[in-house]
Amino acid sequence: MALIVQKYGGTSMGSVERIEHVANKVAGWRARGHQVVVVVSAMSGETDRLLKLAKSISPRGSRREFDQIAATGEQVTIGLLALALEKIGVPSRSYTGWQVPIRTDSAYTKARIQDIDASRLRADCEAGIVPVVAGFQGIDETGAVTTLGRGGSDTTGVALAAALKADECQIYTDVDGVYTTDPRVEPKARRLDKITFEEMLELASLGSKVLQIRSVEFAGKYKVPLRVVSTFVDGPGTLITLEDSMMEEPLISGIAFTRDEAQLTVAGVPDRPGIAAAILGPIGEANIEIDMIVQNVGADGTTDFTFTVQRTDYERALEISRKVAGELGAKGVNGATDIVKVSLVGVGMRSHAGIASKMFTALAAAGINIRMISTSEIKISVVIDEIYLELAVRTLHKAFGLEEGAKPA
Ligand code: ADP
Ligand code: ASP
Ligand code: MG
Repeated sequence: MALIVQKYGGTSMGSVERIEHVANKVAGWRARGHQVVVVVSAMSGETDRLLKLAKSISPRGSRREFDQIAATGEQVTIGLLALALEKIGVPSRSYTGWQVPIRTDSAYTKARIQDIDASRLRADCEAGIVPVVAGFQGIDETGAVTTLGRGGSDTTGVALAAALKADECQIYTDVDGVYTTDPRVEPKARRLDKITFEEMLELASLGSKVLQIRSVEFAGKYKVPLRVVSTFVDGPGTLITLEDSMMEEPLISGIAFTRDEAQLTVAGVPDRPGIAAAILGPIGEANIEIDMIVQNVGADGTTDFTFTVQRTDYERALEISRKVAGELGAKGVNGATDIVKVSLVGVGMRSHAGIASKMFTALAAAGINIRMISTSEIKISVVIDEIYLELAVRTLHKAFGLEEGAKPA
């Protein structure tokens, strides 16, 4: 008998029929002698709908209230699934985050889990009851409801698995595992049987939304065996493995991308010490995260300073940069929001030269212009125009032999 935490995502919970299908799956695991704790997302599209309602009243309103509103989506699905389980003879009890309780800090809309009291869930399991827990939410020390950031139910699942010392955390979703890239963009993408935590962390942080990055961090830290599987088709899925090195280490394990990018350039800045701090300081103070940074070599005593931020922060970043540019005597600020970041990830890169040049050659052959580049030990990212996103992903997928049946490069 194993203790398993199963997390079902929004598409899996998207209708009454699907919720009943999930109930049958849970019942099946239980009938095979396992203890199951379930974590669920809101119905697909529901969190977007709720946040849109909040924004329609006050786009920059209190984040505490945003969380109060967004967390309701999961309160509905826990109740529905508990009812569906009860209907087929499986004793079940639903829990919101605060009823568990799952305690978090007060960083509304991106709260971090601090502590979980798993005693109620444990008692339920012992009594043969299936607890159904709302994903994505917790409670802070003031008693306010918090949320863990978009995709946060993955993190609830893994955190509960860690707290319960579960044998496995299974992430049920609408794809049957982690692929070499998003199968919606490249239908030739290939499912991976295994991927290392390190690579999964990199893919998640670079935009692959199949797992929320914090869930991968958590699983690595607490050594939770984590598996991505499909709700709709049976199969082994993808195991996120703790092993540092795999028997057969692929050079490139995947391609991630994100549309959530915007670029700003402060042009004609005086080329002297302190400029980077003068520009980026106020941006950081406004709580805007900066991703890539490029400063050109100065000519005629001035230089151009380019950086990227999340697209939702673009307007604010532009406002702040214009103000700073004025103070510094720069020529001006221009920006672009029709850009994306595409990244190649693989631990095998560490020991191989020439990956970057192969990547740039492939993109050039497809006529894709690179705006910015950034590299680390196991990834290379490029910023390109958004219209080339699909072409770039497919071009790189082919160039690095990631398709089904292809011989890896
Ligand atoms: P859920 O609602 O179950 O949490 P998500 O939409 O958050 O599901 O994540 C699953 C989606 O992630 C897939 O439908 C797929 O389009 C996307 N995705 C992006 N990159 C990958 C990848 N490398 N492998 C598998 N799916 C990916
Ligand atoms: N419902 C939340 C979201 O859409 C959390 C999740 O599904 O993981 O972001
Ligand atoms: Mg998700």
